[in-house]
Amino acid sequence: MAADDGGHSGKEGVPLGEFTLIERFFARATPERQGIGDDCALIDIGSQTLALTSDMLLEGVHFLPDVDPEHLGHKALAVNLSDLAAAGARPRCFLLDLALPRADAAWLAAFSSGMFALAQAHECALIGGDTTRAPSGPGSPGLLTIAITAIGEVDRDRYRGRSGAQPGDDIWITGSTGEAALALAYRRGQIDLPEPARAACIRRMDRPTPRIALGRALVGTATASIDVSDGLLGDLGHILERSGVGAVLYWPAMPRAAIFSDLPLAVQYACVLAGGDDYELVFTAPASSRAALLQLVGDGVGVSRIGQIESVPGLRLRDGEHPGAPLIDVNLQSFDHFVPPSPGPLGQASADVSALEPGADGHGDKTGVGP
Ligand code: ADP
Ligand code: MG
Repeated sequence: MAADDGGHSGKEGVPLGEFTLIERFFARATPERQGIGDDCALIDIGSQTLALTSDMLLEGVHFLPDVDPEHLGHKALAVNLSDLAAAGARPRCFLLDLALPRADAAWLAAFSSGMFALAQAHECALIGGDTTRAPSGPGSPGLLTIAITAIGEVDRDRYRGRSGAQPGDDIWITGSTGEAALALAYRRGQIDLPEPARAACIRRMDRPTPRIALGRALVGTATASIDVSDGLLGDLGHILERSGVGAVLYWPAMPRAAIFSDLPLAVQYACVLAGGDDYELVFTAPASSRAALLQLVGDGVGVSRIGQIESVPGLRLRDGEHPGAPLIDVNLQSFDHFVPPSPGPLGQASADVSALEPGADGHGDKTGVGP
């Protein structure tokens, strides 16, 4: 459809993607320190600068109906704290909005206990929100929606967003990526996972750890950062776009759990490079900080150097760090709420559970919620 169709599609039949949509209809000039485009918005209040971010979790899109409510409470806050981590912010407080299909005391006790355990660990207080009943439809009790707005504090003069990467900077990642995507593939019935890898992957998907300590430790060293929520290639792509640069990634340097060595390379690429729900930080830093960064440990993980920023636009994957190392041709798509996935070894490796095959994992009566 043409672009003048009222915004219902992109140009010439190309689906209007999540980020194009935001850029076209919502990104406007702002008098605030930082508006749309980074993991957090920034506002100055007196001598303080606050970082604000919000993320929603929708039943059938971000989690399955039978998810453990204690895990869900943890995850709803964790994904928001992860955006504060990307900005190097100190968590301060948060607001909680709930649309509940029903008032179930046992469910609410478990959900709030998971959420408050993480909140207390980061001294981040719940200060308000909104609670409504989710509308029920014919034969459906209504779908749960959780939205959290998290607020943190940043050092005004040492704030980092997605736009500061410079040619020659190294690219780093905290922890490792791909296990949450494996857990999703397992839940979809697409792969079998032996124990103890299965439990580890499921834990990564259900109880992500926001890299708050590492995000703070990188203040003053990292030139740009983002948290990996939708897939490493796509999320690094946001840094490249906002910084006006390109990059090369070294596949052998990519940290991955031991279970991946038993899996086909195509599955490794799909999960490690394009799997969602990892909540690691990808960041850039000058080569002069290499030695210091290699010593960095926090939130139970270390950091790995996985590539370099280049002035040539685009993202290249090489089978080694040497400039002569062969290029690897991967055509992987990170998660976008509005662009259909291209077929791959696991379908789309992302946090989206909306494409569950009926009966594939016992949740077949649940399909996705339309936009
Ligand atoms: P993240 O994955 O870090 O939560 P998103 O990819 O969801 O960030 O969003 C990219 C940017 O667009 C962020 O700066 C976010 O605040 C902004 N954004 C997303 N949706 C909207 C919206 N409906 N209105 C205004 N800004 C939005
Ligand atoms: Mg983010």
